[in-house]
Amino acid sequence: MEKTVRSICGFCHTSCGMKVHVHDGKIKRIDGDLDHPVNRGHLCVKAQGIKSLVESEERLKFPLKKTKGGWVRLSWDEALDLAAEKLIEIREKHGPESLVRSSGAPVSYEARDGFLQFMGVYGSPNLTGVSNLCHVPRSVAFMDAFGARPEPDYENAQFIIFWGVNPVNTTRFCSYASYDGYHQIIPRAKERGAKIVVVDPIRSETVSFSDLWIHPKIGTDSALGLSMAHTIIYEDLYDEEFVGQWMIGFEETKRHVEHATPEWAERITSVPTEQIRELARLYATAQGALILDGNGLDMHTNGVDTVRVICMLIALTGNIDKPGGNVFFPFAPQRLLPTVKTGKRRIGWEEFPLFPNCPFPAVKESLLRETSDRPRAMIVHHSNPVLVQANQERTKRALQNLEFLMVLDIFPTATTEIADLVLPSSSDFERVDYRAYSSSRGAYLAFRDKVVEPVGESRSVFEIEYELAKRMGLEKDYPFRNTEEWINFVLEPSHVTLNDLRNHHIIYVTPPVVYKKYQKEGFPTPTGKVECYSERFKNHPCGPLPSFHYPKESHMTHPELSKDYDLMGTSRKPSEFVHTKFRNLPPLCKLYPNPLMMIHPKEAFSRGINQGDSVEVKSPRGRIQVEARITENIPPGLVVIDFGWGNPTDRGASLNILVSDEVWDPISGGYPNRLFLCNIKGLS
Ligand code: SF4
Repeated sequence: MEKTVRSICGFCHTSCGMKVHVHDGKIKRIDGDLDHPVNRGHLCVKAQGIKSLVESEERLKFPLKKTKGGWVRLSWDEALDLAAEKLIEIREKHGPESLVRSSGAPVSYEARDGFLQFMGVYGSPNLTGVSNLCHVPRSVAFMDAFGARPEPDYENAQFIIFWGVNPVNTTRFCSYASYDGYHQIIPRAKERGAKIVVVDPIRSETVSFSDLWIHPKIGTDSALGLSMAHTIIYEDLYDEEFVGQWMIGFEETKRHVEHATPEWAERITSVPTEQIRELARLYATAQGALILDGNGLDMHTNGVDTVRVICMLIALTGNIDKPGGNVFFPFAPQRLLPTVKTGKRRIGWEEFPLFPNCPFPAVKESLLRETSDRPRAMIVHHSNPVLVQANQERTKRALQNLEFLMVLDIFPTATTEIADLVLPSSSDFERVDYRAYSSSRGAYLAFRDKVVEPVGESRSVFEIEYELAKRMGLEKDYPFRNTEEWINFVLEPSHVTLNDLRNHHIIYVTPPVVYKKYQKEGFPTPTGKVECYSERFKNHPCGPLPSFHYPKESHMTHPELSKDYDLMGTSRKPSEFVHTKFRNLPPLCKLYPNPLMMIHPKEAFSRGINQGDSVEVKSPRGRIQVEARITENIPPGLVVIDFGWGNPTDRGASLNILVSDEVWDPISGGYPNRLFLCNIKGLS
């Protein structure tokens, strides 16, 4: 039987609309959906992997329990009974806080909400995952300053700064917004005459589309930003009216950046003084200027302060919630699931009071130090902490200290390998879901229809979660039993049901954007104003205003390591894959078979390394083997190593064998995956 299913790609946050042609339950062809606003028919290279993901022989198909003799297949009843028994026993012995939920990037909303209700009714506030490494550290800075996370208003911008982000490669142009075809954002902006600037130490794919490329030394972006703030203030380029009415602590900010002259910043960043001034002047005087911050800023030990500096620039120029600036687009109202109020019962509360959940280092260190409040059980879903978090061997050791590790996934991963119980979850193409997008034309919801039946005995996460809760006598607190009921529950505030979505596919639920809402409502901060000077940060070692600090593992902070580790290492994610996923899918790994290390010709040839050679990269934590790619896109002194390999299905080298877990960002617990010391030698 032939059918065409209108759905949403589940591979990345962009969430493109697609039409999938299915014959007798098998995917035959996938086309982009011309009517979906986010992609207007366009699909990226990753979509070539969808069919093989669904049909892969490597999929987890039934529950597995680890025994001394190896993995043993269980029925769902046996698996859920085992999980319920363990979780009840652990709660009785150690209290509800001894359970941790670790989740990954909320590419699907099942990833966002899975096991949240469960944690709420179980009584544990301990939610962890990848939030220390991606997006949330930047959100903390924006939420603190503005009370909400703005999105770039490309359609009206005359000046665009892509800062620590490479959207041409990643397809990520925002947090959750939609711009009528993301692949047209840059061509349309250029057609309008908008200027594009990229701030990135590496000549990324996005640099080819830019008018100006600023390349500071890696990890020094906050010095660049502070000197831009200095120029804007001391050359009287700031928006006096906005600053006077809406910015808290302008005088303190002015004093704070007095020393941060472009000359000071040039010594730190290597960006020429005149270029810093030019950038500050262009940004401050353009009619509608925006900054898109990216994941390149997160994975540093000074990441949150860098984004606080970016917030300062946005506030000083008044480029907030005005056409062409960073704007609060309408968002679809959705119900939040009832998590436990965090308070002092949360692991790591004392060290990370400004972070919204438990940063992974807090969980990991409590496990390794065997503190009395350490977790005893962990539920992992849509997540692969062994591969994602720094220092893989220590992460493994920490998780092996748990009494019970339950992992839900679609493939075997580096984390399922050390689990006690592995449960097969269905993929995004085997269940219904929805996606909320914000846009200047209003917030809208889109329907993700089921394309094919779940593979093997795999089940949706909500179904697994509810069945587990039922066995533990917790079901009375559940407003949903499966994915369909969860959708109806969370979408109630939008007055949209699953059936409405099924019938219409795309539904706008708010009016178009209104600019400068703050003039009527104020900002959603405690003072109603922009809090670049933050009372909350005042009691934290970071201080009320952001500063520049050298990265914690660098040649500046550890000169004694320079002799043995003369290079700086950073990481990247190839556009063929997302996070740690898909490196086992033949159409994609044919395009990009192995992890690479990119290096400047000067560094390569001085070490006798040629194009394609096998090289060993060594850091104070360990060593890996990768393939050399020699390119002038990387500055001398830096090597760029691909992130994301290391699952049992791909057999590539894992970057996180190299990255330090001894240092992190003091606010977010972000590990320095973007900067660590290393050396290399050729093996070929
Ligand atoms: S992986 Fe590609 S096709 Fe799929 S949502 Fe992301 S950008 Fe769209």
